[in-house]
Amino acid sequence: MRKLSIGVRLTVWYLAIFALAQFVFGISMWLLLRHKLYDVSDDNLESQVEDLQKFFDAQKPGTSDADLRQLSAEAFTDHAGDYLQIYAGNGNWIYQSKFMKEHPLPPVEPDHIGQASFQDRRVSGKPLRFAAARFVVNGRTYAAQTGMEIDDLVNTLSAFRNYLLMFAPLALLVAASGGYWLSRRALAPVDAIVGTARQISGTNLDSRLAKLDTGDELERLSDTLNEMLDRIESSFRRVTQFTADASHELRTPISLIRTEAELALRRSRESAQYQESLQHILREAERTTGLIEELLTLARADSGCESLKMHPLNVRDTLRDVAEGWRPVATMCNLEFRDQLDSGELFVIADETALRRVLNILLDNAFKFTAAPGIVDLSLEQKHDKAVVTVRDSGVGIAQEEQEKIFERFYRVDKVRSREAQGAGLGLSIAQWIVQQHGGTIRVESEPGKGSAFHVELPSIPAPVQNPMMA
Ligand code: ADP
Repeated sequence: MRKLSIGVRLTVWYLAIFALAQFVFGISMWLLLRHKLYDVSDDNLESQVEDLQKFFDAQKPGTSDADLRQLSAEAFTDHAGDYLQIYAGNGNWIYQSKFMKEHPLPPVEPDHIGQASFQDRRVSGKPLRFAAARFVVNGRTYAAQTGMEIDDLVNTLSAFRNYLLMFAPLALLVAASGGYWLSRRALAPVDAIVGTARQISGTNLDSRLAKLDTGDELERLSDTLNEMLDRIESSFRRVTQFTADASHELRTPISLIRTEAELALRRSRESAQYQESLQHILREAERTTGLIEELLTLARADSGCESLKMHPLNVRDTLRDVAEGWRPVATMCNLEFRDQLDSGELFVIADETALRRVLNILLDNAFKFTAAPGIVDLSLEQKHDKAVVTVRDSGVGIAQEEQEKIFERFYRVDKVRSREAQGAGLGLSIAQWIVQQHGGTIRVESEPGKGSAFHVELPSIPAPVQNPMMA
């Protein structure tokens, strides 16, 4: 079943709560009014009994029942005794009005009356209220039952109830329409958000939801959605840019391979010329393989598939090993390669292959961008709880404004020189990703013409305790 809209649900809830409140309010008001009106009529009846007592107190002491009967008949027949009966107990009546004789009310034994009690009666459709109370004359107790018409009271109560019943549906109708109007008004911006959101797709990711100035949750919602769109747009652009750059980078070596092969095949050549062509093709194929490898690493990093196997590692050993591998390159490039690795252990939690990759990227750049005769330095030091690896060179250096950008994908300061040096501008992005995965940082200090220093800081750990059984 389709769920009701928020607007309708809010209205229904609002209506239910309003109806309940109205019901409780109506009932309480009716009960309060009833209580008040009955209080007034009961006071009236009580004062009638008091008047009766005063009347008998005013008679001579020692007046007999027969005298009382006589006195009552004279006093009450014409006056306010329409609904009065006075009973002396044991079947002995003092007074009983005509009305009470016609519509008898069971008498109460005087000794059985404590506090005055009240009761309603309806006689021939007429609503009456009676009080039963005792009074004392000459040391004897009598029971008086006196009544009054309460049709005003009953009419007032029923009129009040009718008004309530009449106005309740009207008030509910007004509340329902008001509630619905309010909820529609409050939720109108949601419709606007939905309308714009529906139109946003991959081709117009720069569209944004209209800015709401409601200063409420809906404004926060639209702002949050817009911020989310900002993030999605920038990742989308990064992916598109990455694909475009990757295709561009791959097209260059492939067209070089193709041109080389076409030229070689245009006419028959000496075997030495074929060999030279094939060497060019092989070099470009190797470069393409390296590039694809780098692209794969970054794509896997983006999708979260590239997982690193972290374990405690003596970073000094790894550095020493990597440095050994670069010595022949230094000799070939006619560069001085120095390392300051000292002895002793310095442990970090790292993936050894990934860490080697970072070092190779930094050393590769240092050798690529330093002309002979120059110096490349590799050093390791402990600063507080950090292991700091520095690769310093005396090469071309990097201008201040380029230093941020070199960590971006495909960014190369000097496109021509870098391509000659076999770089696609991906090395430092990969290095930065790896260092970040290790909870570390990478930064560059450089001055054009003087050289560059890349500092990699990794959190160090105390040397793990060796298990003698395992050793
Ligand atoms: P590439 O594979 O092109 O070297 P990187 O991401 O490793 O890509 O480096 C990006 C750019 O940063 C390089 O093209 C180069 O212009 C600059 N760069 C990196 N390391 C150095 C360095 N040690 N000296 C001078 N420039 C450097």
